[in-house]
Amino acid sequence: MRNQNVYIFLKYDLLIPPGVEDSAVFAGVPEKEARPLPEDADFFETPLFPPLNAEGAGEKKTMRCYLVSGDAAPASWRRVPLRSVIAKAEGTADGKNAADLLRACHIMHWRKVSRFCGSCGAPNFDSAIETARVCAVCGRIEYPRICPAVITAVTNANGEILLSHNKEFPDGLYSLTAGFNEAGESLEDTVRREVYEEAGVFVKNIQYITSQSWPFPSSLMAGFKAEYAGGKIVCDGIEITDAAFFKKENLPNIPAAGSIARHIINLYISGAL
Ligand SMILES: [Zn+2]
Repeated sequence: MRNQNVYIFLKYDLLIPPGVEDSAVFAGVPEKEARPLPEDADFFETPLFPPLNAEGAGEKKTMRCYLVSGDAAPASWRRVPLRSVIAKAEGTADGKNAADLLRACHIMHWRKVSRFCGSCGAPNFDSAIETARVCAVCGRIEYPRICPAVITAVTNANGEILLSHNKEFPDGLYSLTAGFNEAGESLEDTVRREVYEEAGVFVKNIQYITSQSWPFPSSLMAGFKAEYAGGKIVCDGIEITDAAFFKKENLPNIPAAGSIARHIINLYISGAL
């Protein structure tokens, strides 16, 4: 049997056994180094999407993953936060590896919440043909849940950017307006609603920029930019405790590298937004 790399997750951390170098965070731990795995580890293997380019599709691969619970994690193994791995990969050749890890993390959490049929309550089993779980009784198929959310950079006529402080953020940290898409909304509708709900202002000229898988636990972040169209800043005081337009030269603390929020704020700083 060939020696295969594996990823071992504990919630949003990767677990690295002793003696395995930092480089393994991306490359995966060799299977023999990952032994003995904790007894309660949930094993799954997930197909990865091959790289696509003008020459065609790359090699098809699968990734072997184990999810362990906090109690069962060996004390000697290192915990590496997945978010720090993503931040390290930004703009490097490890970008594809980081995307693969995001997929594994997403599927791992979905597996935890899809053990039973949401319709009749019977146990689900793993589909043999696709990444899905199937009910043994009623046949209901469940795919990994993906929750779309928008994140928006609003700028005004003075070239300032709207940033807000969420009560869940660390003190002094400000970011772009973000929120989940509601049933029946287009993503542009969500942008308009979220900016109004969080900051009390209206926007126009909404344009899509880029997107990022954000499996903490199951989001897809769609990044937009928009122009201020009117209204006075009023925070809801519950979720958002402060919001303001900031000048490029005078920004507060902003999110770390690796997030789409930082990527879009960087576009603003460089004048490319
Ligand atoms: Zn069922």
